[in-house]
Amino acid sequence: MPEPKSLRCPTCGREFPPWSVDYFCPDCGFPAGNLEVLYPYVQVGLGFPRAEAFSLWRYEALLPVGEEHAVPLRAGGTPLYPWPKAARKLGLGGVWIKDDTLQPTASCKDRGTALAVAVARKLGRKALSCASTGNAASSLAGFCAAGGIPCYIFVPKAAPAPKIAQLMAFGAHVFRVDGTYDQAFSLALAASQEFGWYNRSDGLNPMVVEGNKTVSFEIWEGLGEVPEAVVVAVGDGAVIAGVCKGFLELRAAGLASRVPRVFGVQAAGAAAVAHAFGRYQRGEPILPAEEPADTLADSIRVGKPADVVKAVKYVAETAGGYVTVSDEELLSAARDLASQAGVFAEPAGAAPYAALLRLVKEGILGREDRVVLIITGSGLKDPQGVTQGLPEPPLIRPDLEAVRKAVEKCA
Ligand SMILES: [Zn+2]
Repeated sequence: MPEPKSLRCPTCGREFPPWSVDYFCPDCGFPAGNLEVLYPYVQVGLGFPRAEAFSLWRYEALLPVGEEHAVPLRAGGTPLYPWPKAARKLGLGGVWIKDDTLQPTASCKDRGTALAVAVARKLGRKALSCASTGNAASSLAGFCAAGGIPCYIFVPKAAPAPKIAQLMAFGAHVFRVDGTYDQAFSLALAASQEFGWYNRSDGLNPMVVEGNKTVSFEIWEGLGEVPEAVVVAVGDGAVIAGVCKGFLELRAAGLASRVPRVFGVQAAGAAAVAHAFGRYQRGEPILPAEEPADTLADSIRVGKPADVVKAVKYVAETAGGYVTVSDEELLSAARDLASQAGVFAEPAGAAPYAALLRLVKEGILGREDRVVLIITGSGLKDPQGVTQGLPEPPLIRPDLEAVRKAVEKCA
């Protein structure tokens, strides 16, 4: 039965007993005091048991709760594909795609949700809530449906229709907020406190990072060692905080001797975390981190990132960094990933490939480096976004002659 050692404030360092506080340090408040979960790392010993059903629960030695509290949906255990063509083209030691879209609700958010829902059940909470640009919401709605738990979802009015469709099908109570994601986030927090819901929002709930970190355990196990670099898209910072924490914990537990450089990628029009990282590197304060957010990649359209403190400090600890890319680069990366690797990602999900092209061009990564791209959200989540600029398929008569003519036009 796993048990965390304590909860720690990443800003003032104050520690709290496990389960004594839900979200943030009362002295530092939100978002500076969003808590991190610590474990007695030395007890992890020889590693994780092999399990027949591959899910994130096999890492329970480094999780705050065990599988007995989980709902039946399987989170984690996603494939790691080699992409040798990209490695050759870019002159890298190796490129792998960690396809985290292959989860119950088709995004990486299922990892954090699995943990938040299990913790809610352990603590006897009767309902959950969250604010989300879409993926975390549909994830929470799915897991709550599986567990028969009511959930209350706050999405910005601009959330794509397929994501809202998932929410409605799962039977969630959905509130479309006539405002931005950041407004939906604040409203969900206030409502959760008012009605006693357990809030799963990214960045706010420390248990989400605990689920997110398992992607790093899987990368390490899949490769048999840690790579030189890992690249992942960043919105509010909870996913990259998890990615970094996973590798840092493998080292703390003595399972890996080093950590990879972790690189975050943001859209140029929504780059609050990247800018905060720049400030931190110059010795300036991380907070406040608040600026306008404008990109077609809705999953990372965040102006007021909730987990910015961890997303900045942990990335610095891995000697990684941040890259910003244009919307055109995001779309082009999504098309390349789909047409050259067979992986259909939403624009935010393809962002790591766009970043990789930059990191190679700028000489930050080179031929000694083995790189893992974490693909966070399926293209089916935002088909209109991904297919922008692609031609319509030809409409043909139902006869072979028409096919013959059409084939001649195929490149
Ligand atoms: Zn504090």
